[in-house]
Amino acid sequence: MAETKELPVTEIYGSMVFSDRVMHERLPKSTYNALKKAVSEGKGLDLSVANTVAAAMKEWAIGLGATHFTHWFQPMTGLTAEKHDSFISPAPDGGVLMDFSGKELVKGEPDASSFPSGGLRATFEARGYTAWDPSSPAFVKDHTLYIPTAFCSYGGEALDHKTPLLRSMEAVSNATVKLLHLLGNKTVRRVDITMGSEQEYFLIDKEMYKARKDLVFCGRTLFGAPSPKGQEMEDHYFGVLKPRIADFMHDLDEELWKLGVPAKTKHNEVAPAQHELAPLFETLNIAVDHNQLTMEMMKKVADRHGFACLLHEKPFEKVNGSGKHNNWSLMTNEGENLLDPGSTPAENTQFLVILMGVIAAVDEYADLMRVSVASAGNDHRLGANEAPPAIVSVFVGDELENVLEAIENDDSAKTSGKTLMEIAHVLPTFVRDNTDRNRTSPFAFTGNKFEFRMPGSSLSVADPNITLNAAVAESFTRIYDALADVPEEKLPDAVHGLIKDLIRKHKKVIFNGNGYTDDWIVEAEKRGLPNLKSVPDALPSLISDKSFELFAKQGVYSKEELTSRYYIRLENYSKSIHIEAVTMSDMIRKAFTPALFDYMKSVEDEAAAKKALMPDVSLSYETDIVKKLSGAADAIETYLAKLDEDTKKAETITDDLASARFYHDIVLADMSALRAAVDTAEAVIPNKYLPYPTYEDMLFSQL
Ligand code: ADP
Ligand code: MG
Repeated sequence: MAETKELPVTEIYGSMVFSDRVMHERLPKSTYNALKKAVSEGKGLDLSVANTVAAAMKEWAIGLGATHFTHWFQPMTGLTAEKHDSFISPAPDGGVLMDFSGKELVKGEPDASSFPSGGLRATFEARGYTAWDPSSPAFVKDHTLYIPTAFCSYGGEALDHKTPLLRSMEAVSNATVKLLHLLGNKTVRRVDITMGSEQEYFLIDKEMYKARKDLVFCGRTLFGAPSPKGQEMEDHYFGVLKPRIADFMHDLDEELWKLGVPAKTKHNEVAPAQHELAPLFETLNIAVDHNQLTMEMMKKVADRHGFACLLHEKPFEKVNGSGKHNNWSLMTNEGENLLDPGSTPAENTQFLVILMGVIAAVDEYADLMRVSVASAGNDHRLGANEAPPAIVSVFVGDELENVLEAIENDDSAKTSGKTLMEIAHVLPTFVRDNTDRNRTSPFAFTGNKFEFRMPGSSLSVADPNITLNAAVAESFTRIYDALADVPEEKLPDAVHGLIKDLIRKHKKVIFNGNGYTDDWIVEAEKRGLPNLKSVPDALPSLISDKSFELFAKQGVYSKEELTSRYYIRLENYSKSIHIEAVTMSDMIRKAFTPALFDYMKSVEDEAAAKKALMPDVSLSYETDIVKKLSGAADAIETYLAKLDEDTKKAETITDDLASARFYHDIVLADMSALRAAVDTAEAVIPNKYLPYPTYEDMLFSQL
C-alpha cells in the first residue's frame, strides 16, 4: 500500500519471524544447539534453555513493537485460536517491567471448556494446556509475539490439529527410515514430509458482502439467479490482473513474506472473481501453519482493499467453487526427494517401492482419505464437474502405468525381456517430463510429488495430511515387514515380487481417464472403489475398526480421540446446515418476498393506470409478469413453510448421525426447492427492487 516504503523483498522476507538466522544471532551457542537438537530429535527442552530462549524472543519481539504474546493453536473448529497476554509485570518502583519466562513460552493453560472436544471433556478435565512447538517458528504480528503451540487436554488427549499432525509425521519418518535402510539406503536418519498447498479464493466488493446475510453468516449465497455471463467464456483463467486485484495481491504477498510465508505464484482462476495463491513447499508442519496464516491474511488484506475474501468451497451456484491442492512428497534429511525417480536403476527400485507404497496406502484407506476432506461446504464441490469426484483414485499417467503393467506381467513385449532393474532404468527420462497433468484426478502423481486435489478451500489442511501420513506409514510398515526376514542375496527378487504384488492388488485405484464422466462412476463401482457422496455417507468410516486400528497402531489418534472427532464433525455439519436454513428463511421472508410484492404491486398499479386511460388496451405483458410472480410467491410460501417445519423437526433429533442425515436428505432438499422458486422469480424482478446485490453485481464487482 502507499504508506509502506518499498523495501527489497530479501529484506522484507521473514522480517517478523524468530527464524533460524535470528536465533543464531541472538542465542548463546549452547542454547542454540540445545534447541536445534531438541527440534531435530523431537525431545523436550530444559527449563534453563527455555528461559534463555524466552528472554531472547522477548527482546527481539519488543524491538518489533510487540507488547503482548500469545500461544497460537488450532482447536478442532478448523480455525486458529489465540489469547493475548501482555509482557508487563509490576516493578518495585510502582512502574512495570516487560517480562516473559521460559515457563510462559513452553506452556499455557487456556480454558479448554469452550472449544469443541466431542465428549473428551466429559471424561477428562475441562482445563487444557498449550505446549510450544519449537519446530514451527514464532513470529510477530499485530504487536503480538505469536508462539505456535499444540493444544491438549490435561490427560494429554489431542484437542487440536497440530498434535496428531506431528505424531503422523513421526510415524512416516520412522516407517520410511526403516524401509530405506532395508533397501540399502543406510545413512538416512530422518524423513520429512514436504507440502505446498495451492489456495483458491474469491474476492468480492466488501459493501456487497455486507449486504447479504447469507454471505456474512454462511459464507455462501443461498439463492440468486445466475448472472447473464458466468465462466463459460473461460476468459478469467490466467487473465490480466485488474489493478485493484494486483494491488491486493502485492500487499498480500508482502504481508505473507514478512511472516516468512513463501508466497510464490498468483493468478486469476476459472470463475469470475476467483484467484489462487501457491507457496513454495515447506516442511509439512510449517506449511500447515502457514496455510492458516495465508487464509487469515487473505481476509485481512482484502478488508483493507475494500474487498471481502470468500474461502467457502461453493460461494456461488453454477460457478466453480474453490479448493486447495495439497502437494505432498517425502524428503530425507540428506535432501533426497523420495518421489523423484532419480537417475540410476537402484534409486528407481527404491522409487517404485515408495510409489507403490503410497498408491497402496491410498487404495487401502480410500474411505478415510475421503473422510479427511468431508465438510458441508465441500459436499457442494466434490463430484460437481469442477472438482474431482467423491471417488478416490490415483493418476500416474499412461507411461508410468505402462511400466507398472509391464512389471506386473513380466511383459517381454513391452520390456523386451528386461529385468526390473532394466525397466526401472528408463523411468527418469519420461516421468519428470510427464506434464500431461490430469486435472480431474483426486490424487495425481505430478513428476516428483503427489497432488491431493480433494481438500476444500476453507479446510485446515492438517486433516488430509494426517490421514495420508498414517496410511503411508502403515503401508511402508507392511512392506518392511514382508521383506524384513529375506536374506540379503534374495532381496532384489523379493523386492521385485513385492512390487508386482502391490501392483496387482492396488491397480484398481489407478485411473488416468476423465474423472468427471458418468462412465467413471459406473466403472469405479465395478472396481469396488467407495463413492461416499456426502458427509453423513463418509463420516462413519472414521469410527470403523479399520480406522481405529490404523490410527492407534501408527500412534496418531487413540480410539477416544478419533471418536471425539467423529462427533465434532457430525455436529458441525448439522449446525452449518441449520444456520443456512434459518438464514435462508429469514432472508427470503424479510428481504426477498417484500421486494417481490413491491414489484408485483408496481406492475399492478401500472396496469390499472393504463386501463383507466385506455380501457381497450392489452395488458398481456403485465398480466404475464404478475402471474409468474404470484405463481412463484405461492411456491415460495409452500417451500418456506416446509423448510421451517423440517428445520424444527431436525432440532428434535438426538442421534448425531441421524440428525446429519436428516439435514442432508430433507433440509438441503427443501432449501434446494425453495431456491429454485426464488431464483425463477428473481430473474424477473428488476435489480432496483432487490435489497441485496445479485450474482451479476458480485461476480463482476472487481473493476
Ligand atoms: P500446478 O501446476 O499444480 O500449479 P506447480 O508446479 O505450480 O503445480 O506446484 C504447485 C505446488 O506444488 C507449489 O505449492 C509447490 O511448492 C508444490 N511442490 C513442488 N514440489 C514439491 C515437493 N517436492 N513437495 C511438496 N510440494 C511441492
Ligand atoms: Mg495444482
